[in-house]
This record gives sequence, structure tokens and C-alpha cells, in this order.
Amino acid sequence: MLLRIILTVVLSAALAGLALWKRALTRSGLITAGVFALIITFTAGVRGFLILAATFVFTLIAGKIKSGLREKREGQVVAKSGPRDHMQMICNILVGVIMLILYEITGRFAFCCAYGCAMAASLADSLASEIGVLSNKTPVDICTGKKITTGLSGGVTALGMGASALGAAIIALIFVLFGGGFRCFVIITVMGFLGALLDSILGSALQGKYRCAVCSIETEKKEHCGRPTVLTRGVARVNNDTVNFINNAFSGVVGMIIFLILKY
Ligand SMILES: [Zn+2]
Repeated sequence: MLLRIILTVVLSAALAGLALWKRALTRSGLITAGVFALIITFTAGVRGFLILAATFVFTLIAGKIKSGLREKREGQVVAKSGPRDHMQMICNILVGVIMLILYEITGRFAFCCAYGCAMAASLADSLASEIGVLSNKTPVDICTGKKITTGLSGGVTALGMGASALGAAIIALIFVLFGGGFRCFVIITVMGFLGALLDSILGSALQGKYRCAVCSIETEKKEHCGRPTVLTRGVARVNNDTVNFINNAFSGVVGMIIFLILKY
């Protein structure tokens, strides 16, 4: 038990240190992520920690690749950019954390697998949006099939889809390095990919999209060119965080049901 606590504190502190160094999180984001890292490492050990760390590091790397290229353009349309805050941490990690608390209480491996599914959805979605905007092709809206502004939620490209599948597979691979087998790998990859796909569908159908009255760009920001924008599509209250939370809950809960049915 003492070893488990020491391991938890050391690994969580190392990850928090990395986030601090890279200025990847706001203060509230850092505190939230720190608490989640403690719970995850305590309940799921090195496996849980490595999955969290990989999600964080690959998102960071993808963001760096993007920033040199299209930061300016995307900054025009996406509501949130820059360091991640506590809402982003909660919407991307909380479902996984709840699964691990259930794993700790019940001892059922299915809940640990469900954590893998939720985190696979997180990384799949992050890579899809960070890498997807680099595509030379104009994204099409996943629901309407029409071309839309690069960076807007709901837009998909082949590159983004590939990055999404890769992200889910990375998490699934780390998961099964500690046991679980090939079937486990496949289910986590598929659930992660489907979560990111749902993210695009909800992003297109529900997420609030606005038009600037001055320069008429389509954006997710409520203000542009110093003036309030006009809601053209979706629901004003639904933003990227809401959609991320729903896709995480979908992958985590459906994954949990599948693994429970398969008697994991
Ligand atoms: Zn404008």
C-alpha cells in the first residue's frame, strides 16, 4: 500500500511538472488534472498512468505540429485555444476517472477496460481535431456533406479520421501491454474511434455556430471583429466541452456494457 501511494504521488507530480513546464494547462486545469492523475494512478497503477500521460503528451505534440502551421487561421474560428482549463480536463477525463473508481470498488476488470475506451475517445478526438486541420482538403460537414471552414466542429477529413483511429489504437496498445489480449485491443480502438466520430456528428448537429456581422466568417466564437456574432446553427449553450463530455461518456459507458457482457 505504501509503495502504491509513493508511486502515485511521484508519477502524478512528474506529469503535473511536465504540464507546468509546457504551460499546457491553466491553474484550474492543472489542479483538476493533478487530482485526476492521483486517482487514476492509485486505482489503475502504471497502466492507468501511462494511458493518461500518453493522451497528454500526444495531444501536446499534435498541438505543436499544428501551431507552426495553422494556429492563426484556426484561432479565428475556434472558441477556446491556448492552455486547457478545468472544464476541458473534466470533459475529457472525468468519465474515465469514474470508471476507475468503479474498478477500485468492484474489482471488475471491465471497468478498467471502460477507462481505456473513454481515454481512447479523448485522444482520438484530440488528434482528429489537431491533425485534421492540417489537411489540404477542405473539410466536409459530417452530417450535411457540405464543405465548411477548416477548424469548425463537425467538419471531417480523411487525414483527421486516420489520426483519430491512430489515437484510439495508441491507447488500446498501451492498455494491452499490461494484459487484456487482442479482443480488448480491438474493442478499445473501435470505441475510441466511434467516440471521436460521435464528437463530429454532435459538433455538426448541436454545437453553436455563429457568423460575424462584420467580416461574415463562420466561427464558434461569440464575439468577432469586436462585435457580438449571430447564432446561425446549433444550440448556443452547447460548446466543445459539452460535446467532448458526451463522446467520452458514450465510449466509456458503451465500452463498459460490452466488457461486462463479455464477462471481463
Ligand atoms: Zn469578423
